[in-house]
Amino acid sequence: MMPRTDSEAEIGVIRVMPEVLANKIAAGEVVQRPASAAKELVENAIDAGASRVEVHVRDAGRTLIQVIDDGCGLAAIDAVRCFGRHATSKIRSIEDLERIVTLGFRGEALASIAAVARVELRSRRREDDHATLVRIEGGVIEETAPCALAGGTSVAVRHLFYNVPARRSFLKSDVTELRHVLDAVQQAALAQPGVAFLFRSDDATVLDLPAEQGAGALERRAAAMFAWDPAKDLVPVEEETSYLRVHGVVGRPAIRKKSRGDQYLFVNRRPVRSPYLDHAVFSAFRGLLPDGTYPFFALFLDIDPRHVDVNVHPAKSEVKFDDERGVYAMLKAVVQRSLSLAEGLPRIDGDAPNLLAGSPDARRSGDGSGGTDLPGPVQRTFGPPRPERTAEAPGDLSALLYSGEVKDGGARPAELLASDATGSRGAGRPEIGGDGRLWQLADTYVIAPLRTGLMIVDQRAAHERILFERSLESLDEGFGLSQQLLFPRTVEFSVADFALLQELLTDLRSIGFDVEPLSGRTALIRGVPAGIRTGDEEMILEDVIAQYREFERTERLRGRTNLARSLARRSAIRAGTRLDPQEMRALIDQLFECSQPYAAPDGSPTLVRIGADELDRRFGRRR
Ligand code: ADP
Ligand code: MG
Repeated sequence: MMPRTDSEAEIGVIRVMPEVLANKIAAGEVVQRPASAAKELVENAIDAGASRVEVHVRDAGRTLIQVIDDGCGLAAIDAVRCFGRHATSKIRSIEDLERIVTLGFRGEALASIAAVARVELRSRRREDDHATLVRIEGGVIEETAPCALAGGTSVAVRHLFYNVPARRSFLKSDVTELRHVLDAVQQAALAQPGVAFLFRSDDATVLDLPAEQGAGALERRAAAMFAWDPAKDLVPVEEETSYLRVHGVVGRPAIRKKSRGDQYLFVNRRPVRSPYLDHAVFSAFRGLLPDGTYPFFALFLDIDPRHVDVNVHPAKSEVKFDDERGVYAMLKAVVQRSLSLAEGLPRIDGDAPNLLAGSPDARRSGDGSGGTDLPGPVQRTFGPPRPERTAEAPGDLSALLYSGEVKDGGARPAELLASDATGSRGAGRPEIGGDGRLWQLADTYVIAPLRTGLMIVDQRAAHERILFERSLESLDEGFGLSQQLLFPRTVEFSVADFALLQELLTDLRSIGFDVEPLSGRTALIRGVPAGIRTGDEEMILEDVIAQYREFERTERLRGRTNLARSLARRSAIRAGTRLDPQEMRALIDQLFECSQPYAAPDGSPTLVRIGADELDRRFGRRR
């Protein structure tokens, strides 16, 4: 900038900002709304080692946010100093940054809050003979005096943004602001089950949570918070590798939420927002929840601080991992496994994902199946084996690779089913007991003896699940297996269906339709997805389009989910289809290679298990 006057040229235009002004500006980053002040104050209470934290608000925090703790308290001199910029007791040297264990460390929160509100702090260390009161308004200390307090700290923040009208006018309705405060308190309460929490709003008690200790503390805390049953509604999650530990709880599909917001993720006990990692958990629930609903979860990732950067945002809510994909893969796999286990079925086991390879596909052959010792690759689908995908493989290379394996005219389902029955062993196959024989009941159910009990599989639901996951996978990967029709057909569509066909063309090809729109409203069909029911190849495209429309109307399904569900629905083996033993075995193998073996895509169960204990009970036998 050019100096405008001689005198400016002499004395310059750069000034050091007064601290009060600097704090007011910094406050904009740290304190956006009452909830951010509440969050900072609660974190300070936790950092102070509190065993009980109370949060009181008036008018959704506009008039008052007060946090009272029984933590270590502050010496008189620190009660004043803590309002200084970069005043912190938590960092002394640059090395400390590498091993931060407290929630706060920047020493900005109190200074920022005090810059934009009227704050009263009372604090006392137990060893001191009196407490200290500090009153500070708009960043200016108005009063310090001895006062009475048993021990611990109370910070009252009044009239937030009283001196920043622009900020004040940005606040949303009381309902919204209060929901944010509640969210901040719930976040802290989930992160610290060992600390008792009380949350009151305008004198009404919103949360009153006793301290929970020992095993199951988090489940009990979450259950107390949302009025759930810790045993019935929640599933514990726990897994550890040298890189990462994941633990916490997820809600069973039955307690799904209509809106997002009850997803809690913590990295090294610090609450973080990560749509990417949320997605990992959501995808573990894929097919278990109706569209438009979300699972509850409170998950903790513990990781060496050197592999994670939590300092990327002043509100400290975003994180970066040095191996994002690896963390994603592990999170997804761990949640899937926990959900499977919770169904009371034999363990669904894959290898722990290879974190540093970072591939979400790392769930491959495992050792979990017991029983048979046949070696061989895991086939995830009902169709013929798929090639290992290489980065260079162009889309239609797959067609070449398969031309020898999928014969013209399409493979019989028996061949398709059987192709997996030998040589492969499911990463997650349950331990089939007895001599391993399977029965079919009413051409509808497959019955398998388990080591302890009995499993009844609905063949249609199971096949639908298999086809659904396979289709999604093909859609993700961009190519699916195709079986060529002996006689390519031309089909005439309605105008609307032809438009839909063109809209879906890329995805249709990805799942294995070899289809070519011709002029007018006709399309040439040369091939259909491999592994579908025979007899239906001819009509399957029309069927899928019709089903797509129906799902669009009845379930508001769109895009790939709809397409995968439509194909699965229309091409799964039906009830009333006789299966031979190899087909039954393949069906079960394939089912347990799915990420969600227990439910069809519409949520109906694929199988029912009757444990030996239940049989004993029903026959009145005591063990
Ligand atoms: P930070 O938490 O990043 O250190 P803050 O501005 O939040 O920065 O707090 C500044 C300092 O004030 C803290 O380092 C701590 O020493 C002290 N402090 C704040 N709140 C409390 C509390 N509730 N109990 C004890 N000490 C506190
Ligand atoms: Mg702090």
